Amino acid sequence: MSDADARAGYFGPYGGRFVPETLIHALDELERAYAEACADDAFQRELSLVLRDFVGRPTPLFHAQRLSEAAGCQVWLKREDLLHTGAHKIDNTVGQCLLAKRMGKPRVIAETGAGQHGVATAAAAARFGLECVVYMGAEDARRQRLNVERMRLLGAEVREVDAGSRTLKDAINEAMRDWVTHVRTTHYVLGSVLGPHPFPSMVRDFHRVIGAEAREQCLARMGRLPDVLVACVGGGSNAIGLFHAFLGDAGVRMVGVEAGGAGLGSGRHAARVPEHSVGVLHGTRTLVLQDLHGQIRETHSVSAGLDYPALGPEHAWLHDQGRVEYSHADDTEALAAFALLAQREGILPALESSHAVAWVLREGAALGPDAQVVVNLSGRGDKDVAEVLRLRSERA
Ligand SMILES: *Cc1c(COP(=O)(O)O)cnc(C)c1O
Repeated sequence: MSDADARAGYFGPYGGRFVPETLIHALDELERAYAEACADDAFQRELSLVLRDFVGRPTPLFHAQRLSEAAGCQVWLKREDLLHTGAHKIDNTVGQCLLAKRMGKPRVIAETGAGQHGVATAAAAARFGLECVVYMGAEDARRQRLNVERMRLLGAEVREVDAGSRTLKDAINEAMRDWVTHVRTTHYVLGSVLGPHPFPSMVRDFHRVIGAEAREQCLARMGRLPDVLVACVGGGSNAIGLFHAFLGDAGVRMVGVEAGGAGLGSGRHAARVPEHSVGVLHGTRTLVLQDLHGQIRETHSVSAGLDYPALGPEHAWLHDQGRVEYSHADDTEALAAFALLAQREGILPALESSHAVAWVLREGAALGPDAQVVVNLSGRGDKDVAEVLRLRSERA
């Protein structure tokens, strides 16, 4: 773990553990087990092999020349879309499932919004012989039927949550309740750099491989470090995974792209940084979208993976320190980027990743034709085909 984590999981004023007393012991146990696993060569070796042979790492760094022409700068895509189950999320779920096994816990639980984290957890749990229960809002389950069936085919039990707005935050509440009740036998596979310590640092560490690979690939291919790194930011796991290896390189500019939704002025978005409002959500203190009474606001994005009211606490700290810039792309820009990447490079990107592509299309000309820009293509867009078609017919 890095120095930033020194004060019991705080990143400056952000992070910490805001959970019921009953979970403190489980979090201490997890922190200890994770520290031991980090120091254990056998664990690290097994994880590397799983990342290579099951997950599909390393991923290529692809010089997207026709996209570069459109953007006005040199665009390199870090191809996380090629990973098993379709996105970066699997790095974290195999890491945590291996850890659960090491801790002697036979059962894992997860919560999922669009279903991507649920599928990645179900695949890893199957691979390591763990019982798996995934909580999903009933409304989300209806919208993402294919992912529900994928999880079931992978042997997971999907529990649809009928409470509240029947979406992600209700599923998280149920998963927390399950964890409190079954904490002796169960590990909670949290899906982004969120939640109580040690999750934000641990999930980040499982994704650091993205930036470690990209840094080596840049040095080999460009003969130098890149000028800019760009990644979309939901909770912030794919972004922090890419950025971390470059944090000490002062010449490398880093940009996190949040979901601008229907536009910041509309109130229907998931851009936490511009409002810079501090609150506690799901166990961590960070930037959240809330109203004047401290109630968490409804968020909106064309991409389910960016549609979340809290930002990972380390990102809040990186913002305050001025080390990472945060920008946003709206639904329309993301849909245009999706279409352009499909037609110019033969790649259907996830709508989440399309936000990062949209940023480079908007800002690329100002960077100039010699600028080397790495865009994290966090996932593939097969899951989004129906939604893109629906939106196109709605907007036509
Ligand atoms: C879940 C998801 C995201 C958002 O999560 P982060 O933790 O911010 O990375 C981004 N891209 C894809 C493809 C996803 O599935």
